[in-house]
Amino acid sequence: MKNVKESKFLNLVERVQACQKCPRMNGSARVLGLGCGPIDAKVVFIGEAPGRLGADGSHLPFHGDKSGHNFESLIEQVGISRYQVFVTNAVLCNPKDEQGNNSTPTQTEISNCAHFLKEQLGILEPEIVVTLGATALKACAMIEQHSLTLKGHVRTSNNWFGRKLLPTYHPGQRAMMHRSFANQLADYQFIAESTRRGSGAKRSTKSTRPGPRSGTEKLALVAKRLLEKQPNGMSYFALHKMYFLAEVAHMDAASERITNSYVVRQKDGPYCVDLHIAKLPGLIPGLVIERHKGAVWLRLNAQRDLESLDIKPSLSAAELKSIDGVLSRYKGLTDADLKRATYLSKPMRTLLRKERDLRVNLFNAAVLPYQEKMK
Ligand code: SF4
Repeated sequence: MKNVKESKFLNLVERVQACQKCPRMNGSARVLGLGCGPIDAKVVFIGEAPGRLGADGSHLPFHGDKSGHNFESLIEQVGISRYQVFVTNAVLCNPKDEQGNNSTPTQTEISNCAHFLKEQLGILEPEIVVTLGATALKACAMIEQHSLTLKGHVRTSNNWFGRKLLPTYHPGQRAMMHRSFANQLADYQFIAESTRRGSGAKRSTKSTRPGPRSGTEKLALVAKRLLEKQPNGMSYFALHKMYFLAEVAHMDAASERITNSYVVRQKDGPYCVDLHIAKLPGLIPGLVIERHKGAVWLRLNAQRDLESLDIKPSLSAAELKSIDGVLSRYKGLTDADLKRATYLSKPMRTLLRKERDLRVNLFNAAVLPYQEKMK
């Protein structure tokens, strides 16, 4: 069943990649692929359009720009992982104005792309659709009429097209003027609660107030460990690869992951969305980012800045062993050799084999599994 869905989805992706319907989108990426999320996701988020500084470059919806950071922060704070949801847009290409800046999609562009959105929902069959902003709500009305408005129906669950439709505001900075981050966070708590109810999962006994961001805190500890053992630092490229190899080493040793960060296969190998360069200063206090021989170089600063990271959750002895093992095995390798090492790992080989079998590039497909329960 999943294979049927997958081949339908990949066929759709192929048609989207070839689409030339909107003249303004010439030169923009067609942002639809396995990196949007699992095709059996119960929840689909629909934004407006890929952003110039975000998905148009990263090819991952809501990743790489301020809207993406806000979105990723909101879902993380209510305990939703990118591994569990599918994220797409009302229009699949970045509309730019004459100056090359982001522009709002026109009615015609939304209408041109609405059949692709309908097809995505038909393949995925999600229980819940969350619209992010007025454009996504408008696009849904083109698929099946509704009378919902953003202002009147935010944080409500509505029957639509055989599923629940939850309107929310766009997580971009402009929309934050109309609905603050705190209010949006409450909206996302409503989404998380609706998702749990939909899946029959028991209500969490944990507070729904924003709690410690244990997912990325653990990632921060892994990154810190990798960096502190390399006094001269390492390239940004190497950090992604070393982190990936540490996860693989730990899966081999303990049959589980260290973190649940979303890791996808990019052209240059595995890439962790939570280690995006703009997020690193917030993730690792005391981090110095500089340029070194044309590469982005990372190193740690004064020890006192780093002590703030010594908080729970901490790394177990087994996790430290996996990380340190990777460091001693791969330390000193060039970026090219590190990339080669990741390609020789089991998860990458499995994905590459799948690419050969399907005869498609699975760029941005998840390359590490999601683990239901993390310590
Ligand atoms: S926005 Fe949609 S309809 Fe327009 S060119 Fe891109 S894929 Fe085609």
